[in-house]
Amino acid sequence: MTADRPASHLFYQSRLRRPMLAHGEGVYLWDSAGKRYLDGSSGAMVSNIGHSNPAVLDSMRRQMELSTFGYRLHFENEPAERLATRIAERMPEGLDRVFFVSGGSEAVESALKLARQYAVARGQAERWKVISRFPSYHGSTLGALAVTGMSLMSAPFAPMLREMPKIPAPTCYLDRDGRTLEERGLRYAHMLRDEILRQGPETCLAFIMEPVGGASTGALVAPDGYYATIRAICDEFGLLLICDEVMSGAGRTGRYLASEHWGLRPDIVALSKGFGAGYAPLGAMVADNIIAETVIDHGGFVHGHTYAGNPLACAAGLAVVDEIDRLDLIAAAARQGALLKGRLEGLMTRFPFIGDVRGKGLLLAFELVADRATMAPLPVELNAHLRLVDIAYEAGLIIYSRRTRGGRIGDHFMVCPPLIVTDEQIDEIMEKLGGALEAFATEAGL
Ligand code: PLP
Repeated sequence: MTADRPASHLFYQSRLRRPMLAHGEGVYLWDSAGKRYLDGSSGAMVSNIGHSNPAVLDSMRRQMELSTFGYRLHFENEPAERLATRIAERMPEGLDRVFFVSGGSEAVESALKLARQYAVARGQAERWKVISRFPSYHGSTLGALAVTGMSLMSAPFAPMLREMPKIPAPTCYLDRDGRTLEERGLRYAHMLRDEILRQGPETCLAFIMEPVGGASTGALVAPDGYYATIRAICDEFGLLLICDEVMSGAGRTGRYLASEHWGLRPDIVALSKGFGAGYAPLGAMVADNIIAETVIDHGGFVHGHTYAGNPLACAAGLAVVDEIDRLDLIAAAARQGALLKGRLEGLMTRFPFIGDVRGKGLLLAFELVADRATMAPLPVELNAHLRLVDIAYEAGLIIYSRRTRGGRIGDHFMVCPPLIVTDEQIDEIMEKLGGALEAFATEAGL
């Protein structure tokens, strides 16, 4: 096989090339040609406190002068110690053991492995199945992929994966069955019970879900009763509940953890994205103290990564938590999220092909449809999820999209600016988005 000499030696998923990033400040990014973009998706829902926050940069500079690496088996380090304490303070009672990693997939891998070791330590070695939802996204490493409900991503690796059982995500907004929303939510929750019984409860280890969905479902939120029912079913059959808050955590939905909205107490939480807020590759698995202690007592947690608890990454994370508090950004996420969601809903009168607006706080999305009454998706050939993003990008607005092929959810778009977004910047998002939707409608003949 031959190929032309590459224009770049970087190797990504595809040949898509974007302009060169020059710098960022607040909610804006500039490319090397001087063009300004409003970061309306915080990258991939990462840059929660905006770009180039001076306090975070200062904290990182100070830490760099002291040390940037000390291996875990040779030294403890203060930023890691302090960050673990700050995070534990924000967690539900008893969920206070913080295991640092460098990203979301690692946080999920760590959660799966800890759950498994906990079962083995308690003499339940037959428990290994982790039930998850379809669609869902939990990461691209093989373990996280096994619980990810996106067949396009996992299919090429099928022989290398131990396929895990999946139940449908609670896409109640698509159901037209005459039941109330709450009844529809409970129907989805009870699918977990059915699946556990089908698999054999004695083989089931855990259930993993995103309390507010990420890009795979477009900020899917279940009706209130869903969450307590899921917790009760996990308890009834002895499954651990793992909440993947990689995207929804660190304040984005208007609470530190999205699960707090429903008083839902997970046994293990995965955090990343807004946790390091784009300043350092950082993630964490936060576990119930009893789980952590039991595993340590039975020979230790057989897992870890070289960069875990890196002092520079943790100094960044510490400053991010401080900035979230100083700027009251969790309240801002709730307030500005309500404003932005209302404005997105307002677009539905102008554009009949917007079928749904959903989400919580500043974890928001809208979905495009061919027919709002039936929620039939737009024809695949329109490539709406790519075209609208490109049109908006040209206009200087970054949004994030996906189409879950083969699933029931169509083209959906995350509108998730940094939590520092002002009213005027929301106006700017809406103006650019409105223009992009207009241009897309003309192009697509809608
Ligand atoms: N879990 C969720 C809910 C995510 O949204 C993502 C990334 O989008 C991941 C896990 C994987 O995180 P990472 O890309 O940092 O490995």
